Amino acid sequence: KLASREFHKSDSSVYVGKVKIGGGSLAMIAGPCAIEGYEVLDTIAKYVKAGGANILRGGAFKPRTSPYAFQGMGEDGLKILRDVGDKYDMPVVTEVMDPRQVDLVCRYTDMLQIGARNMQNFDLLKECGKAMKPVLLKRGMSATVKDLLMSAEYVLSEGNKDVVLCERGVRSFEDSTRNMLDMSAVPNVKGQSHLPIIVDPSHATGRPDLIPSMCRASVAAGSDGIHVEVHNCPEKALSDGPQALLPHQFLDLMGDLRKLASAL
Ligand code: PEP
Ligand code: MN
Repeated sequence: KLASREFHKSDSSVYVGKVKIGGGSLAMIAGPCAIEGYEVLDTIAKYVKAGGANILRGGAFKPRTSPYAFQGMGEDGLKILRDVGDKYDMPVVTEVMDPRQVDLVCRYTDMLQIGARNMQNFDLLKECGKAMKPVLLKRGMSATVKDLLMSAEYVLSEGNKDVVLCERGVRSFEDSTRNMLDMSAVPNVKGQSHLPIIVDPSHATGRPDLIPSMCRASVAAGSDGIHVEVHNCPEKALSDGPQALLPHQFLDLMGDLRKLASAL
């Protein structure tokens, strides 16, 4: 299997623009859940860049539980993401939800995100496998580690070698957190696969008070990076406001992670 350790003995790394993920280099992906407009994204990007984030995130196509919730700005949002990423010299990542959107999203982004809800959308996986962009593949909320690796296989087998996995929590009986973060997925994946894996404590916990410690735990567990939502005004955010870190919290977190990474 192309994702397996047997196929590729050493850790592989993936370039997103000039940013290397894996093989000792950490992806610090940060930004708002959704792109809400130029001004808001510009403000958030300025803060996350100052904190040391190296990839900017933001959703233009949002997979919302309710069809009446904000669905994202679509192509207008993609244009804003591209402009702001260029302004702060950060490559950008954004979610693509439908195989028919892959070409459009590729025109604006440096990395394609496949969301948890689409981890087994096999046509989407194949289409992203044909694209010339790295892929951030999030673990489905009820997917096993084996399922995640088989989904990566769909992308790899179409010829795209640049896959980064993301642990973002799975559903459980615990109802004080949004999902249950499976930290063991990091060393578990590393034992079976050469692909980089990062952790998203924002969607995993849904709680800003838990995100910093789970980011530190991720780095300590050998994760190749983190994926965190940041908003300068969470109470006004159009999606996932309650789980967003404030800019100063992100700054503190990044300082702690730098210290931790240099101590490892
Ligand atoms: C996101 O990253 O904005 C997102 C929707 O995440 P997930 O697919 O992990 O729920
Ligand atoms: Mn979100």
